[in-house]
Amino acid sequence: MLPFQEVDLDPHSAGWDIEWPIKLDALTSYQAELERMFGLNSGEYDFPDLLLDATGAPSSFMGRLAKWPAFRHRNVANLLANDIRSEKGPIIWLNATATEFHFDPASRFIRTRLQSRNGNALEVTARETVITAGAIESTRLLLLADRQHDNRIFAPHNMLGRYFYDHLSSPTARLTGMRKKALNRLVGFRFEGSTMRNLRFEPTADLRHRQGYPAGFLHIAFSETRPGGFDAVRRVYRKLQKGGTPTASEMMDLARGAPWLLKAAWWRFVEKRLLFPEGAELDVHTVIEQEPRAENRISLSQKRLDEFGCPLATLHWHVSENDGRNAYALTKAFVVTWNRGSLSHLAQVELRTTEDELRTSLKLGGGIFHPGGTIRMGADASRGVVDPEFRTFGVSNLSVISTAIFPTGGGANPTMMLMMAALRAADRLIQQSRRVQ
Ligand SMILES: Cc1cc2nc3c(=O)[nH]c(=O)nc-3n(C[C@H](O)[C@H](O)[C@H](O)COP(=O)(O)OP(=O)(O)OC[C@H]3O[C@@H](n4cnc5c(N)ncnc54)[C@H](O)[C@@H]3O)c2cc1C
Repeated sequence: MLPFQEVDLDPHSAGWDIEWPIKLDALTSYQAELERMFGLNSGEYDFPDLLLDATGAPSSFMGRLAKWPAFRHRNVANLLANDIRSEKGPIIWLNATATEFHFDPASRFIRTRLQSRNGNALEVTARETVITAGAIESTRLLLLADRQHDNRIFAPHNMLGRYFYDHLSSPTARLTGMRKKALNRLVGFRFEGSTMRNLRFEPTADLRHRQGYPAGFLHIAFSETRPGGFDAVRRVYRKLQKGGTPTASEMMDLARGAPWLLKAAWWRFVEKRLLFPEGAELDVHTVIEQEPRAENRISLSQKRLDEFGCPLATLHWHVSENDGRNAYALTKAFVVTWNRGSLSHLAQVELRTTEDELRTSLKLGGGIFHPGGTIRMGADASRGVVDPEFRTFGVSNLSVISTAIFPTGGGANPTMMLMMAALRAADRLIQQSRRVQ
């Protein structure tokens, strides 16, 4: 979890014709509440002094530390179990797939039909409806709702489903001449109480605007290593997580990994870091926000239907020349900054890609599951599908909470921003319902 920065919502540093119709604090005002909910500590996210330049001043890349909730807090249904089960809690229907949407002639949402595999169906009538089906499915459901109403609500504005983007990521450089212990202390996963944290470097607003870079970040990760203690622990953990019992050979591997495990325990409790696996190489990964382009879009499939006879989503998505260029330029800037800066005594960063290779790598599998843009927020219906309160322009009592409402991907993973958006929408709906009562 990591909030976006103000620059991510400002007029775009790369000159893209796109705007966020809200300011960052409309969402980050919920940050403390969200941190409390997930049991996160309240430590800072931004560390501008982590990587200094040759003159000792903050460089053009800022350290940022994301927060990971404790493992037991990562399942939201468990986290909120008491609220969910309480008398005042919500009613939840499982195995109920929304398949039909009914608007009245004044384009007010009145009814949803939900179906289950066993043939049962449920109709829900509500004063307000919020679609929260994930970025791709929420878009598909709105396209479906529009089709069920002769494409007269969203289709005329030609915004719904368009401007799909993802974050694009690829390994781009390798650390050489490493002082491994010191690096492990700097970039290894940190433990602060029950909160786990990891480091990335984001270009400052100044660098982005000066060079016309989009948002992005670089992080240092160890690459897959030969089998050893780390690998053995991971396999056993995964088995236990799935409710299985480790096999005898997995337990033997664990025993063989004991020397590394002992060291790792020391690092966990004394250094408060996750120890790198034996023989790990350290790679720099570049992540950038992809340019939202109208031709990158979600539409309804002409042929493929789900089990309820509704068309599936089809994704038209490609990585452009600009995306490759942006990722390469940002990487080069980072390599130069690191190698001249205050952390260069820990290792040198060696660029390991050309612009062409990087573009190819991003095209072949650069997406990292942060889809967005296809129900984007805008100041009016010609600029977006939902307004700054996340209500659709077409149907005033229908809202959407999904990363699809974010006009751009920003410089951080999206889910913290998404949950803050959900809290904002919940506040608005509570106030509305009080006014009605
Ligand atoms: C491998 C992976 C790693 C990720 N890592 C990170 C990360 O480190 N940090 C981060 O910030 N984000 C990460 N993300 C992104 C993150 O998972 C999403 O941002 C987040 O889950 C979106 O939440 P959501 O509630 O909008 O959608 P979802 O989590 O997709 O939930 C949508 C729900 O709607 C239900 N649904 C769909 N259609 C219907 C329908 N017709 N009727 C009824 N119900 C329906 C689905 O079953 C699902 O339960 C990752 C994603 C992936 C895939």
